Amino acid sequence: MTNSGKRVAWVTGGGSGIGASGAEFLAADGWIVVVSGRRKDALDEVVANIAKNGGKAEAIALDVSNKEDVDKAADQILAKHGRIDLLVNSAGINVPKRSWADMELEGWDKVVDINLNGVLYCMRAVLPAMRKQKDGCIINVASWAGRHVSKMPGPAYTTTKHAVLALTHSFNMDECVNGLRACCLSPGEVATPILKSRPVVPSEEEQAKMLQPEDCGRTIAFVASLPPRVCVNEILISPTHNRGFIQTPA
Ligand code: NAD
Repeated sequence: MTNSGKRVAWVTGGGSGIGASGAEFLAADGWIVVVSGRRKDALDEVVANIAKNGGKAEAIALDVSNKEDVDKAADQILAKHGRIDLLVNSAGINVPKRSWADMELEGWDKVVDINLNGVLYCMRAVLPAMRKQKDGCIINVASWAGRHVSKMPGPAYTTTKHAVLALTHSFNMDECVNGLRACCLSPGEVATPILKSRPVVPSEEEQAKMLQPEDCGRTIAFVASLPPRVCVNEILISPTHNRGFIQTPA
């Protein structure tokens, strides 16, 4: 980070799973963390947990698919802290009906609104401040489903995650020259509450073999700690029984 003073991170989907863990690792590294999500009680719990460990965090409840909510939250953070150094887009959903035969447009719209438009709204909301700072990092939590098409995640989720990858790469093409950088964190299966939306919820034994939220949280803090000159377009991670690797810009 270029600024020697405070570093402010905004984490969406920060009330649970990957976002909550990312917030905790960032706070442990000295970031002031603003966690956002729909459920205030879950956010408050994350904030309290961070405070208990000596970190600084606060909560702003919002729906990432509501552009007004998003803009208001960015304004609120900037009014209070004067800067946003890091945005982590971790808010995301999937729907239980995942085959082409079952797919309902209502579910499609919901997934696109949150997983894709929500990411775009947050990126746009921080852009003016980051450009002014001539420094800023964005981490978009995509997925292996953004790289590979398989049946399980279903067409809506798979399409949005492919699109988030494209959105991130196109951001870098335009904004790296302004000192900004974006990275997709693309994990394989992670044992988090999102698995409850699957048609068949994996067993505890199956979940134990998956990545854990803290594996992703630690990776988020690692990407955030990289020098501003370093742009990593994407990090694909998987448990060691699969092969994880870091992919640099092509
Ligand atoms: P999770 O369900 O614990 O986290 C998702 C969070 O997003 C929740 O806290 C939820 O409240 C929040 N959220 C949902 N809709 C929102 C909205 N409209 N506005 C604000 N917040 C909203 O699950 P997770 O696994 O931690 O998911 C985080 C991200 O990781 C998602 O983008 C998901 O697609 C991605 N991901 C998950 C896995 C996995 O296997 N768990 C794998 C790859 C990628």
